[in-house]
Amino acid sequence: MASTASPGRARILIVEDEPQLRSLLRLYLEREWYEVIEAGDGRAALASFEAAQPDLVVLDLMLPGLQGEAVMTALRAVSSVPILVASAKRSDAERIAGLRLGADDYLGKPFNPHELLARVEAILRRAGHSKIVEDSVLSLSGGRLVVDPLTRRYSLSGEGAGRLTPGEFRLLQTLARRPGAPFTRPQLLESIARRPDDVYDRLVDAHVANLRRKLRDDSDAPWLIETIPAIGYRLIASVDPGSSQ
Ligand code: CA
Repeated sequence: MASTASPGRARILIVEDEPQLRSLLRLYLEREWYEVIEAGDGRAALASFEAAQPDLVVLDLMLPGLQGEAVMTALRAVSSVPILVASAKRSDAERIAGLRLGADDYLGKPFNPHELLARVEAILRRAGHSKIVEDSVLSLSGGRLVVDPLTRRYSLSGEGAGRLTPGEFRLLQTLARRPGAPFTRPQLLESIARRPDDVYDRLVDAHVANLRRKLRDDSDAPWLIETIPAIGYRLIASVDPGSSQ
């Protein structure tokens, strides 16, 4: 396995079958001092991911051979690496399907490269690829759930362990800043995405659904996050003293 990217210089894997677009993205990203790796199809993407361990993946969906959705599923089985989908599949339904598969953000083609850069930067910032280091763990409900903010690994007492994506962790952390208080979807959105609109409301819902599934929370009888109809969500678990907030 290759060494990990040097601090401050994030490594980005571009998965795109159109060589011209791939070169253009490389140009823009390298100008911003990112390290760029390219893959022209799904199988090459998985091999490059394994070899280079990038900090972020920009993923096209319509690829020759192995489709982008299958690449995302394969990546999500082994990694919580941030994934930005950049696809000509741009209907709401297609975007939501992509987000449900585990994408952190979704950009419809054609896109402005500057918009892609802005999203990449935002995702990396949220993923903690900058100076923000929080040293204490997030502990809820007397240690029932403990999350390490650096690795985002969680353990759920007696019920397993795993890893949250950057978006899932930020959302949970935002809720934990004011336990019991309702948060609207636009407020929660600020922790995980950039543009408030209808699709992005559903991005919050998709993240909450992922958290509930991973953390064994039942929307009908929650221990962790309660849905507030017509408003959003609130944390109903207690935040333990000394938790990361
Ligand atoms: Ca394509």
